[in-house]
Amino acid sequence: METNHSISLISPVMATYTRFPVTIVKGKGSYVWDEQGTKYLDFTSGIATCNLGHVPETVKEKLEEQLQNLWHCSNLYHIPNQQELAALLTANSCGDQVFFCNSGAEANEAALKLARRYANKVKGNPSPTIITFQQSFHGRTLATLTATGQDKIQQGFAPLAPGFSYLPYNDIAALYQLNTIRPAAVLLELIQGEGGVIPADPEWVQKLAEICQENGILLMVDEIQTGMGRTGTLFAYEQYGIEPDVISIAKGLGSGFPIGAIIAKAEAAKGFDPGSHGSTFGGNPLATAAGVATVSHILKSNILEHVKEISAYLDDKLQSLKKQFPIIEDIRGKGLLKGLVVSANALEIVQKAMANNILILTAGPSVVRILPPLTVSKNEINEFIIELEKTFQSIEKGE
Ligand SMILES: *Cc1c(COP(=O)(O)O)cnc(C)c1O
Repeated sequence: METNHSISLISPVMATYTRFPVTIVKGKGSYVWDEQGTKYLDFTSGIATCNLGHVPETVKEKLEEQLQNLWHCSNLYHIPNQQELAALLTANSCGDQVFFCNSGAEANEAALKLARRYANKVKGNPSPTIITFQQSFHGRTLATLTATGQDKIQQGFAPLAPGFSYLPYNDIAALYQLNTIRPAAVLLELIQGEGGVIPADPEWVQKLAEICQENGILLMVDEIQTGMGRTGTLFAYEQYGIEPDVISIAKGLGSGFPIGAIIAKAEAAKGFDPGSHGSTFGGNPLATAAGVATVSHILKSNILEHVKEISAYLDDKLQSLKKQFPIIEDIRGKGLLKGLVVSANALEIVQKAMANNILILTAGPSVVRILPPLTVSKNEINEFIIELEKTFQSIEKGE
């Protein structure tokens, strides 16, 4: 009997994503091209990953140089790019030490493990609880989906990891529960990205930080979407007047090359010793080459200033659209992480926008998420607004 493996209607790739019917094969700056050569203005940036635009020259050069020399080396040996990237990240944050991994979920997994082990080994707390917030998103591993405060992410994965509790986001009154729960750590996003582009209220964040400080609770911020200049500062926490104990980053850190990290203050970093955590690929020479090139570019160029100016420009344009289309109920976000709250199906808007050659995202059923590269120009924003206006016109007409 011959079995024919090739005749199958089932895709060889597992159906974990609902994909748009477009195949992207090339990217440069703010644009991508599909197989047919159709050009799209990409205001998704690979979901806040290609923050310097597609195939940025500085990162490409650094990667090409590293490709000639060494692709991989175990963490049993010293890796110069890793040292350099860790030094850059600690010199430009409130943290002292960095652990490298390969993705956002792994960064949060490391943060959660660090918090647990710090509580166990340093504080002598054998059953530490970790607090996260409703509507949050922290990743898809078993621990990080447990940390994620959304039923739709957790459904079907019972039993979830023990030791997690959830509080409502931006709710000052609810913070007093921390006195009874006495958690080892809290983990929060400063702008909930996947949850609907919901910025944290500064007063709430400061109160939370104060309670953490007073009670020896580790304050851990998930800056996987908000970090790497997205909001106009290298990290969003800088705008909240707080100093987190642990910062998790990934997405924009390697300009599209997979890399994640946590940056921890020296005290929190005591949670890990040699052998307590690890990753084969974490901080690999290629990934950290991309990281060094990306972070040095953000720090040396005027890109953070540019984000502040260009995001104000984008804000103005979006506010005018809001006046024009009552379907747009609210505009939320910071820097170049924007959410349009709409009284329509956000996915339908994203699909129609694609027909107008602009790529945008949803963040839940009624929020359109806009994530241009940090390098976006005024002309590109003008072009984007023209196409978005057309998109809203066709939605309004029910086309
Ligand atoms: C994307 C994201 C993650 C997960 O990152 P992966 O690289 O997909 O594992 C975690 N937290 C936040 C805030 C994110 O935006």
